[in-house]
Amino acid sequence: MKNIYLDHAATTPVSERAFEAMKPYFLNVFGNANSQHVFGREAAKGLSEARQKVADAIGAKPSEIYFTSCGTEADNWAIKGAAMEYATKGKHIITSVIEHPAVYTTCKQLESLGYEVTYLPVDGEGFVSVDDLEKAIRPDTILASIMFANNEIGTIEPIKELAAVCKKHGVIFHTDAVQATGAIRYDVKDLNVDMLSMSAHKFYGPKGMGALYIRNGLKMGKLITGGEQERSRRGGTSNVAGAVGMAEALTEAMETLESDAAYVASLRDRFVKRVLEEIDDIYYNGPKDASKRLPNNSNFSFRFIEGESILFSLDLAGISASSGSACSSASLDPSRTLLSIGVPVGTAHGSIRFSFGKHNTVEEVDYTVDQLVSIVKRLREMSPLYKKK
Ligand SMILES: *Cc1c(COP(=O)(O)O)cnc(C)c1O
Repeated sequence: MKNIYLDHAATTPVSERAFEAMKPYFLNVFGNANSQHVFGREAAKGLSEARQKVADAIGAKPSEIYFTSCGTEADNWAIKGAAMEYATKGKHIITSVIEHPAVYTTCKQLESLGYEVTYLPVDGEGFVSVDDLEKAIRPDTILASIMFANNEIGTIEPIKELAAVCKKHGVIFHTDAVQATGAIRYDVKDLNVDMLSMSAHKFYGPKGMGALYIRNGLKMGKLITGGEQERSRRGGTSNVAGAVGMAEALTEAMETLESDAAYVASLRDRFVKRVLEEIDDIYYNGPKDASKRLPNNSNFSFRFIEGESILFSLDLAGISASSGSACSSASLDPSRTLLSIGVPVGTAHGSIRFSFGKHNTVEEVDYTVDQLVSIVKRLREMSPLYKKK
């Protein structure tokens, strides 16, 4: 029985190296990093080394890295923290229609609390326009939050240009870089962003571990109030093992980023080419220009059939993929992202994301295409919508 994992945008396995680095912090170095004794000092040392490594990976200073419990928390903090801190300046926030639920539902919640949110549209490949952002800025705009790379269709947004427009108008800029981190090399100073979110489990680190970069000097409200952890800006006993695992996984990812990205993209490109050649009536969603797309991402709409049926059949064949984002796949609503790029509702229902990873092989790609071709053929033969030509 095959067991092929093609859902790396949902999560990745923890790397051996990250796992080994974490181990001591579960066992003998178990102290509370805030305790004033040798156990505490050892834990604090691990935490501080981890912070340095994460900072180094993105061109930040260690004092600008705040560990959180996940990417979702980092996104919530960036948006709600700014909303609380700057409410007297204004209550207008700008985001895009294709944000991850961690950003999107946070903005929805702020709307219910009296904030006004502009959801910028995207073009047919998922790109936010720099012009649209500039036009949406008002005197009462306090924050813009635009994702670095989309989790469903892989679109890499022009973050540097978007951040520059915000800087010009004195608007704080946050980016959800959860999909980008470990896949794209970037430097926060070069991007000139004020805040940036990341999550360890998307780059072969542990689940339940994230970080928010907050530019030094930026005033920010608190999301999690409590003790004096994270320089008194985020309470809660530090997850030292998680931070160490995150730092090790990110360091490892940065060491081989270009070669890993090239390998993963080669698998993706082989897959996409074969699927487009061998299956009719499909759309390849997202950027056609591979340089503006996450190296691991592919997303197809298969007309006349349901994504859920395809997924179910793939699962039976030992292939794990996803119908859009894992976070919304429990609901039967079509993907907000796919609708935003103009995929018709019915077609959006027949969409599957295949996201590759560095442990996948060419054989797995070929087996998956072979299975997919016969699954789509079989489902279409049963579909009343499918008119044989
Ligand atoms: C996975 C993901 C998140 C959420 O991160 P968690 O650590 O799982 O909470 C946020 N944004 C994007 C773009 C993601 O892909």
